[in-house]
Amino acid sequence: MAVYDYDVIVIGSGPAGEGAAMNASKKGRRVAVIEEQESVGGNCTHKGTIPSKALRHSVKQIIEFNTNPMFRDIGEPRWFSFPKVLKRAEKVISSQVVLRTNFYARNRIDVFFGTAEFEDKNTVLVRGTVKGDETLKAKNIVIATGSRPYTPTDIDFNHPRIYNSDTILKLSHTPRTLIIYGAGVIGSEYASIFSGLGVKVDLVDNQSRLLSFLDAEISDSLSYHLRNNAVKIRHNEIYDSVEADDRGVVLTLKSGKRIRADAFLWCNGRSGNTETLHLERIGLEANSRGQLEVDDHYRTGCEGIYAAGDVVGWPSLASAALDQGRAAAADMLSADDFRYINEVPTGIYTIPEISSIGKTEEELTEECVPYEVGQAFFKDTARAQIYDQPVGMLKILFNRNTFQILGIHCFGEHASEIVHIGQAIMAQEGEGNTLKYFVNTTFNYPTMAEAYRVAAIAGLNRVANL
Ligand SMILES: Cc1cc2nc3c(=O)[nH]c(=O)nc-3n(C[C@H](O)[C@H](O)[C@H](O)COP(=O)(O)OP(=O)(O)OC[C@H]3O[C@@H](n4cnc5c(N)ncnc54)[C@H](O)[C@@H]3O)c2cc1C
Repeated sequence: MAVYDYDVIVIGSGPAGEGAAMNASKKGRRVAVIEEQESVGGNCTHKGTIPSKALRHSVKQIIEFNTNPMFRDIGEPRWFSFPKVLKRAEKVISSQVVLRTNFYARNRIDVFFGTAEFEDKNTVLVRGTVKGDETLKAKNIVIATGSRPYTPTDIDFNHPRIYNSDTILKLSHTPRTLIIYGAGVIGSEYASIFSGLGVKVDLVDNQSRLLSFLDAEISDSLSYHLRNNAVKIRHNEIYDSVEADDRGVVLTLKSGKRIRADAFLWCNGRSGNTETLHLERIGLEANSRGQLEVDDHYRTGCEGIYAAGDVVGWPSLASAALDQGRAAAADMLSADDFRYINEVPTGIYTIPEISSIGKTEEELTEECVPYEVGQAFFKDTARAQIYDQPVGMLKILFNRNTFQILGIHCFGEHASEIVHIGQAIMAQEGEGNTLKYFVNTTFNYPTMAEAYRVAAIAGLNRVANL
């Protein structure tokens, strides 16, 4: 068995692993990446972000075709099956794999396909490569092994009617009714996707409000629009049992309710992928959710070993994982591009889309901050009228005395893009972070950016009227 020497070994080729590998390689280090799936991209590309966003896009197009009267000249509304929209997602996954494979080739990074485990803090054994087991050595190692759906043992995930967010991508038919258990980001996104395909969805939430970390007005809007699309949202419910047979699935809730559907999708929690790494050989231990603790430089408790991405927990987003990986590589190489990732916007691809950064109204009220609100409704902007996308709102929260922007909350078409305009201003130092930027700057017209000007004027008027 050959032994290969590197400067940096990265375990996992999701966004965190890719970020770490690319940054270390750009800084002239010899880098190896180990990936246990058949191709690079991580769960982000194969099971999470990319397939779900591609599915959503197809469903949006179907909704557009079926509801826009203009298309009636082309044909009557059509029904599309889930496997059909999945096909399009598979094409996007393949394109992403090609793109990312090229990144590694171009940067001369060796990729080993196999399962990594630690032998000691400088040695990793890769099991099951095409050449058998391989041993790699390096001064620094980054654990970027990501996460997978948490699956409680009292639910039979082998039953063909019971799915999680990984296995749903193998669904080979379109159920008429679906129970989604867990109304976090993933559950709410899948509720949008399936209801958009005309599936009757029961969305079961163990909290009293959808996505309770969001500004209440935004989370209320999501509830309204999901209900409007025939999603039955059930709050404050906890499962007692999930039983499946040939005819369907029955979910029994602790409250005594019983719900029947053709299929069941579990979207409640994720576990870090650490159990095959043999962490005990390097003196590390994952917590009960399989996650590793790191300091604010992404260092684990073992010298030279870093961890980044979903395996370290919050915020468990591809966006942050990539930056965390880059930061880990920067820290180990004492480079000046190190940045601790603490300000992360939320991008939630429900229908309608949601995005936000900064404080919510509830948080500012709790902290007794003297804030005011500027709002713009998409239905009043020319661009949204042209797009025929009237659903949506931009809300800017700002300090009433200093005009400093404190929070930006948006829902509607392109919300996750729109939020970044405000984020850029919010990130300015001192007086650069001001609501007045939006009234003192000329924007293209018609654009969704116009919503910032409208919201800023509305907010300033509220202050002037005090
Ligand atoms: C349905 C869904 C939708 C999502 N939507 C979004 C979104 O819209 N925006 C967003 O920012 N985030 C989204 N996320 C979250 C995002 O996918 C994750 O935050 C991101 O994938 C984390 O990246 P990572 O690099 O930490 O790990 P992963 O992408 O999980 O990659 C880890 C890789 O490590 C490999 N690996 C694990 N153990 C080993 C081992 N022992 N040896 C070798 N390889 C190993 C795995 O095979 C995997 O390929 C979504 C997640 C899901 C499930």
